[in-house]
Amino acid sequence: METYANKLAVIREVLARRHMKVAFFGRTSNGKSTVINAMLRDRVLPSGIGHTTNCFLSVEGTDEDKAYLKTDGSEEEKSIKTVNQLAHALHMDERLDAGCLVRVFWPKTKCVLLRDDLVLMDSPGTDVTTELDSWIDKFCLDADVFVLVANSESTLMNTEKHFFHKVNERLSKPNIFILNNRWDASASEPEYMEDVRKQHTDRCVHFLVEELKVVEHEQAHNRIFFISAKEVLNSRMQRAQGMPESGGALAEGFQDRLKEFQNFERRFEECISQSAVKTKFEQHTIRAKQITESVKGIMDHIHIAASEKRVASMAERDSLRDRLDFVRDQLTFLIEDIKKKIKMVTEEVENQVSNAMEEEICRLSVLIDEFRSDFHPSPHMLKIYKSELLNHVEKGMGKNLAFRCSDAVNASVQTSQKDMIECLQPLLPPAVQNQINILIPNRQFKLSYDLNCAVLCADFQENIEFQFSLGWTALVSRFLGPTNARRTLMLVDQKLQLSRSLATTPVGGGVAQAPPPQAPGTPGQSQAVVSQEELMMSMVSNFASLTSRTSMSVVIVGGVVWKTVGWKVIALSMSLYGVLYLFERLTWTTKAKERALKKQFVDYATKKLHMIISFTSSNCSHQVQQEMASNFARLCQQVDVTQRDLESEISRLTTKIQQLEAVHSRSKALRYKATDLENHLESFTRQYLQPQI
Ligand code: GDP
Repeated sequence: METYANKLAVIREVLARRHMKVAFFGRTSNGKSTVINAMLRDRVLPSGIGHTTNCFLSVEGTDEDKAYLKTDGSEEEKSIKTVNQLAHALHMDERLDAGCLVRVFWPKTKCVLLRDDLVLMDSPGTDVTTELDSWIDKFCLDADVFVLVANSESTLMNTEKHFFHKVNERLSKPNIFILNNRWDASASEPEYMEDVRKQHTDRCVHFLVEELKVVEHEQAHNRIFFISAKEVLNSRMQRAQGMPESGGALAEGFQDRLKEFQNFERRFEECISQSAVKTKFEQHTIRAKQITESVKGIMDHIHIAASEKRVASMAERDSLRDRLDFVRDQLTFLIEDIKKKIKMVTEEVENQVSNAMEEEICRLSVLIDEFRSDFHPSPHMLKIYKSELLNHVEKGMGKNLAFRCSDAVNASVQTSQKDMIECLQPLLPPAVQNQINILIPNRQFKLSYDLNCAVLCADFQENIEFQFSLGWTALVSRFLGPTNARRTLMLVDQKLQLSRSLATTPVGGGVAQAPPPQAPGTPGQSQAVVSQEELMMSMVSNFASLTSRTSMSVVIVGGVVWKTVGWKVIALSMSLYGVLYLFERLTWTTKAKERALKKQFVDYATKKLHMIISFTSSNCSHQVQQEMASNFARLCQQVDVTQRDLESEISRLTTKIQQLEAVHSRSKALRYKATDLENHLESFTRQYLQPQI
């Protein structure tokens, strides 16, 4: 199409050029300039001096009043007043190269022929140059008519013939006229005139018909004329000056030669207006028809290809839409399903961890028994001991819990993840489908139990002071129960401190020995504010129960014993009590203290760990949930990529389909236009180019 567009641009340029071009050729001094001047009815071009340059001279009309000239490559208008000035200008201008063009603009008002936008081109002479080929290309390819000005006093020269052969090679059937000039010379020898004329005519006819094959034999006579340009020019100039046409010494037969020149002019004008136009348009019309024909073919091809591609694109778009719908539906369905699965797995993990913790808490004493470290009751060493113990418990519990749960949890997480991947894999982008391991690495899932024993048991306070089993504290706690005993002891302690501060009297005895009743885990201030009535009620009720049951009988029995046995029994009892005290006191070694601490710690930690079972198990299940949810989210993201890819592909196809539809209808319209143009060309051919019947 681009090639055709370029060709059409050239044709348009040629058609847009309104003027017709006539090129005059012949040897120097044959009278080319004189012929042109005769046709223009004025001495426009210098003659008789031979061509002093190798320039082409063109004469064309101008709407201005004065004549001027322009040389090649310059827009400067050089004014010329007379022919001599022009000759001088041409002679003097050294910049004019061989084969350049000098354009002479002659006022249209002075010359009728130039009004019709005719350009007459005078050549330097076929004998002057050897650069025929470049001349033809430069100045002749667009000429409509060629006029060969021959000298009737001699025969056609080979250089002249050679030039026209070259022209004929480049142009198909150029319009050629042969003017046998200087025919006035024949008047001096009238007896040979007919023979000479016949001889010239035969040679010219042979040249045109046989050699160049540009005209038929019958038409050849309309192309060959015997004239005297000089005579015609002179008579026309005289007439223009108002003098009689035949004034001056005119050779015999002038009227015949004038008629023949006029005849030539008529044929020339005919040729210009008909034959040249036909040649010009016929050629382009044929080419235009060929172009429209192949444009029709191209448009048909585009039309078919566009509709085929459109159908294929629509089918592709439909299948992509189906896939997009499938991916969307499947994703909605799978999201619900996988959420349920994740919930199930997390609940399962929560139960597993919670059960394992229960069991581990039950085994806590064993774990603590396994702990070995240097024990010393000094506060500093105790602190180190306890922190090591906490560390041991943390590690041990963590290890045991991992041993109990990790494999099972990991297995169920892996299985659920595998299921999840299997479900979503068909919805992933193809590139990701093959690299699913990069997206979700197949790694072991590790639960972090994070019991944080150090913080949890931070306020553990051991009680490893010696306590006699029959001492005040122990007895109170035995009778009142551990809670009330603590309260009582606390109350007593407070009272003691109060009285101490009031009376500053030290209070000795077993009470002073009692350890501060601030037991581990005992709430501080809030619980210290216990109503005394409540305590009294508890003491009284306990005492009542004591009195009401065995104690009463013991007192009675004691009284009876006192009466019967007396001080011996009391002394014995006292000594037994003392022995027992001594025994207990002596067995309260460092080991015993460590045991007591461990036991207290077991009780304390058991309670504390029980409190965090649900927290830890839900933390673990949360970890599982996090792991699975993040992997699921990553997969969903990729499914989103699939959806986006599909959507953009669909919109790309939609645009493509629209473009194809536009191409489809445009090619159809252009095909109609080509047919329309073809009809135009056909009617143009009929109207202007076909011979009228
Ligand atoms: P060009 O070189 O072909 O352009 O020839 P010119 O037009 O310059 O003419 C050369 C000479 O031939 C001039 O002196 C003219 O006067 C003369 N000449 C031109 N035509 C004729 C003609 O028909 N008869 C005679 N006798 N001389 C002519």
